Amino acid sequence: MLITMQPDSSAGDHESVRMSLRMRGLECHSISSSGTAAIAVTAGKVTPELAAELGLLNGVAHVRSTARPYLLAQRAARPEGTIVNVSGVRIGGDEPVIMAGPCVVESLEATIAAAQAVRRAGATMLRGGAFKPRTSPYSFQGLGEEGLRILAVARDLTGLPVVTEVMEPEQVDVVAAYADMLQIGARNMANFPLLRRAAASGKPILLKRGFSATIEEWLMSAEYILAGGNDRVVLCERGIRAFDNSTRFTLDLNAVPLVRDLSHLPVIVDPSHGTGRRDLVERMSMAGIAAGAHGLILEVHPDPDSALCDSAQTITPATLASIVSRTHLLTAALNPLAEPMIPLAAD
Ligand code: PEP
Ligand code: MN
Repeated sequence: MLITMQPDSSAGDHESVRMSLRMRGLECHSISSSGTAAIAVTAGKVTPELAAELGLLNGVAHVRSTARPYLLAQRAARPEGTIVNVSGVRIGGDEPVIMAGPCVVESLEATIAAAQAVRRAGATMLRGGAFKPRTSPYSFQGLGEEGLRILAVARDLTGLPVVTEVMEPEQVDVVAAYADMLQIGARNMANFPLLRRAAASGKPILLKRGFSATIEEWLMSAEYILAGGNDRVVLCERGIRAFDNSTRFTLDLNAVPLVRDLSHLPVIVDPSHGTGRRDLVERMSMAGIAAGAHGLILEVHPDPDSALCDSAQTITPATLASIVSRTHLLTAALNPLAEPMIPLAAD
């Protein structure tokens, strides 16, 4: 059962609904921070009489039964969609957000150079891994907390909010102390203790899809974060494992319009990991935007051939600049009512 609240309902109205449920021994979870509030009954049965009674409480818009297991992540919980604000950058609105930076934080100088280059190219957030999930235990594992400090310096110099990965529940506090947004990587999408701890940090969370996860499993992982009281979740499609090995993964662009219909959460696309090939990244970026993504996350390095990690899929700042300007043009073309971001030349 899902109870949606009117947009002008108060925190007191939400609490009255929760109290009525709890008094009858029902359990509930709710979303409320960044848009219309909704309350889901997560244990116990709502009789038709109780549903009718709840419908009369102040501020209640609808009481409906729902078959979706991701009660709070479903679109009906917040039909207008969620906008996630990351230190002033709004994800989920009409303007796609471009996050860019190196796969891994290599050094202070390299990270500052990369951050300045991606900012000049038009990115509005900085990415970079300090704690890296590597397939081989012998590969560079990242600089750890030193990498977080470097990212914070780069943010202070460029003004770009930072998204960076957290791999273990015990790392959440230190990553949250430096980052603007926590990234949960594909390999940890179903690490439920990590999801719970990350939710409790209150930070915005970028939740990557596991490369063998179904859409429903992905949305259930988002549900863990929402049920943990944090509705600042952005989904990221980053490619799934299919039979063909001519690309590193298969970017599942079906997922983009589908999760936009199924869920109110914003969704972005990662064409770097999704292809593993820098020659494909620009075209798959455009495809992601055309499919309805609210943004892109891209691996960019001033000298991609020398990147310490994921060099083959890393693009130059010049390619990023092209992606940014073509994203603005494509967005304006897809939404003729929106103002073009790049003014058209006068006749
Ligand atoms: C990354 O973005 O740095 C990363 C490791 O991606 P994924 O978790 O999607 O493999
Ligand atoms: Mn990478």
